[in-house]
Amino acid sequence: YLAELKKLKDEPSITADGHHVEVVANIGNLHDAIGAKKNGAEGVGLYRTEFLYMGRIGLPSEEEQYEAYKAVAETFGARPVVIRTLDIGGDKELPYLDVPEEMNPFLGYRAIRLCLDQPGIFKTQLRAILRASVHGNVKLMYPMIATLTELRQANQLLTEVKQELDASGIPYNPKMEVGMMVEVPAAAMIADQLAKEVDFFSIGTNDLVQYTLAADRMNERVSYLAQPFHPAVLRLIRMVIRAAHSQGKWAGMCGEMAGNLTAIPLLLGLGLDEFSMSTSSVLPARALIHKLNRTALQSLAEQALELGTAEEIMAFVKRNVPEIA
Ligand code: PEP
Ligand code: MG
Repeated sequence: YLAELKKLKDEPSITADGHHVEVVANIGNLHDAIGAKKNGAEGVGLYRTEFLYMGRIGLPSEEEQYEAYKAVAETFGARPVVIRTLDIGGDKELPYLDVPEEMNPFLGYRAIRLCLDQPGIFKTQLRAILRASVHGNVKLMYPMIATLTELRQANQLLTEVKQELDASGIPYNPKMEVGMMVEVPAAAMIADQLAKEVDFFSIGTNDLVQYTLAADRMNERVSYLAQPFHPAVLRLIRMVIRAAHSQGKWAGMCGEMAGNLTAIPLLLGLGLDEFSMSTSSVLPARALIHKLNRTALQSLAEQALELGTAEEIMAFVKRNVPEIA
């Protein structure tokens, strides 16, 4: 089995019936990036940049960020590296930002909300990412978008930063793709509108599940509601993928669900284009994808989404997809 996995490393991820998907990794730093590449990741689907901001006494400078993003972009060469802008707040705090404590941090001042409110911090990061975009195949992604207005405001700041770089003659890739995470149910519900104004979606199921089921992902007493296979979650995922495709855009997933071997057949059947996961899941996921027939999984996924509970859906998939075992 290990020899089989090793062989897969240098081949593209193609289903048994010839459909190509990307299997990429979630990383937090250069060390993770190197490990991900060694272990068969075809790129990075989620670079969590907040780790650059944590465990220190002040904000990282533009130069420091640029060097960090450049190093990861160069590690992957022509392969995609999706850099997510700062997602602080929720369970991750920055003492030096002096944000008042909140009753419901996961529903509070976090991620894009904080960045739009403190555009100085955000624009510094956008500049660093744009500058790094000439060193590889960099894509930019906003976290926690809930409204079309937030997306437009973020893009407006990005346009300003590009103009500033132009004025100083600093190079960047003007065609860098710009996408957003879909991790708030409101965004999934208006994915058709959002899809017109992004280059791609990446579904963040860790948050999408907690917000859809109204169950804090850190609270063990309600952990039974952490159900990525809940039909409501799966229907939202279907909406997002359909909306992207109807605008000719691609849809990925960077929540834990993307690396779940029972979820992969369903997600393939729903048409997901990119699967981003922990490095340790990459080769097993690629091995499974090689054995699956996407066309057959389309009707399986449609049937699964008519079932009433997560348990029924998981049992149905396991029963009908023997390749999982
Ligand atoms: C997610 O919410 O699914 C996600 C990938 O982002 P994070 O886990 O960093 O919130
Ligand atoms: Mg998230």
